[in-house]
Amino acid sequence: MRIAIVHKEKCRPGNCGLVCQKYCPVNRKELQECVVIEGKAKIDEKLCVGCGICQRRCPEGAIEIINVPEVDEKNLVYRYGENEFALYGLPVLREGVLGLLGRNGIGKSTAIEILAGKKEVDLTLDFLKSSELKRYFANLKEKQISYKPQNLSSLSIDLPVIDLLRKRGEVEEIKKLAVELDVEHLLNNKLNKLSGGELQRVAVLAASLGKADIYFFDEPFAFLDIAERVRVSDFIHELSKNKIIVVVEHDLLILDYLTEYLNIFYGQQGCFGAVSDVKKSREGINEYLKGFLKNENIRIRDKGLNFNFTKTRENAGKIIGRWDDFNLKLGDFSLDIKSGEIRENHVIGILGRNGIGKTSFVRALAGEIGNLEFDVSYKPQYLFTDNEDLVRNVIVREKIDNKLRSSFNLGILEQKKIKDLSGGELQRFSIARCLAKNSDVYLIDEPSAYLDVEERIKMARIIKEFMKDNEKTCFVVDHDLLLMSYLADSVMVFFGEPGKRGVASEIMNFEKGISELLKSLDITLRKDKDSGRPRINKKGSVLDREQKARGEWAVL
Ligand code: SF4
Repeated sequence: MRIAIVHKEKCRPGNCGLVCQKYCPVNRKELQECVVIEGKAKIDEKLCVGCGICQRRCPEGAIEIINVPEVDEKNLVYRYGENEFALYGLPVLREGVLGLLGRNGIGKSTAIEILAGKKEVDLTLDFLKSSELKRYFANLKEKQISYKPQNLSSLSIDLPVIDLLRKRGEVEEIKKLAVELDVEHLLNNKLNKLSGGELQRVAVLAASLGKADIYFFDEPFAFLDIAERVRVSDFIHELSKNKIIVVVEHDLLILDYLTEYLNIFYGQQGCFGAVSDVKKSREGINEYLKGFLKNENIRIRDKGLNFNFTKTRENAGKIIGRWDDFNLKLGDFSLDIKSGEIRENHVIGILGRNGIGKTSFVRALAGEIGNLEFDVSYKPQYLFTDNEDLVRNVIVREKIDNKLRSSFNLGILEQKKIKDLSGGELQRFSIARCLAKNSDVYLIDEPSAYLDVEERIKMARIIKEFMKDNEKTCFVVDHDLLLMSYLADSVMVFFGEPGKRGVASEIMNFEKGISELLKSLDITLRKDKDSGRPRINKKGSVLDREQKARGEWAVL
């Protein structure tokens, strides 16, 4: 099967000499209208022979001709329009928590919108005639649906939390769930004054109010620390009794912990997406990492995803800065920081709960508070913006070089306004801006938010190579432990009581640091026997108890 995609925003027939139409062999030899220009290029997929000439000739990169032998035309469920994104297949929903795993731009949100009844589908299509889906869509109108969106910027408004929640549920239920999600102390705060992690938990609460039959949670763990991720997972799991819950998530550790089954989305970003059979989560995640879907006998990627980066030893490289033990007092909050030294070609992971001083430490490094004064380039955690500027203007103004532009694939964003970038696009752009600034120390706060698994690994590789090539040091704050285990050479762990006091450890070896963090959170990790990736033990399970008895918090 073949799909022809025309990216309408890039296609500019006034500028290109209509090379797609001019050089198409079907147009030239057989005098048939395979490519026509009707405002934009239009390609007849039935006449197209898949030579790819138009794709290569188009100076704007507006055309993609894709041969997809692995996808059956009969599985088409939705197409946005002629030569636009196509979705093949749909997950079949059942009681319990189902995960959706796959790259950004590959149809997960489209599938959710269809399953939530927000996008109409042609029920006479072959794929939708299956009895399960037929039954599902026939009953959909009677179902209550709840949805937690990925992007929280529309929630960050000048309104008390309780006023938003009252629109969706009764005060008694709000208070009960607020305790479970640890947001009861925030109910009278304004939404636009909440941190990203607080706003995320309020959004999960809002979506959980009332008596829905089907819940969709799109990336419910972004900005949450690891303890909060486990708490929200347990909350969603509890909610799933006799309900259907669908979760989109890229943190594989937590996706594995929360879901029993998942569907893998594969295809080509922005062009087409296909949905795998339902798989047990453990096997599904392992197949996804390998890039080969066993039942379907389909390779979804040339290579497996390899997180195995070598770690730079803690004491390797020239020292570029140090500090003695010091204390910071910020209002009622007190932070004790152990002495440390930083070396070139090093990535130091900062681990710990939200609200115990990680940002204050960073501000201290940058000389905003305290007595230190490193030259720091900083990528903040939250990226909500209404900046009208074009990406291209910032690239020129801030001298983002070609290497960073191509590493973060910024070319396709250049014509967009910053405020119109998706979460993942804004994240890539923001990390590139941070690295483009010539500094001694880079501080990158939560770079994984809104990035898919492949983008996370790529981002980790770019950061590591950048530090090595430029002999710099980078501190990375992130709560995706799988990502951290591959990105960080060593770690600093923050302990304490959120909002009251924090203690920052010395810089230590990764295994030691992660064990100390897990011990403080009462969580154990085991190693998956096939893939070697870490997995969270269910609290109180045999493995959990045995590992705790041996003092083995993380088997990595
Ligand atoms: Fe024509 Fe198809 Fe070849 Fe493009 S790929 S030039 S549309 S035959």
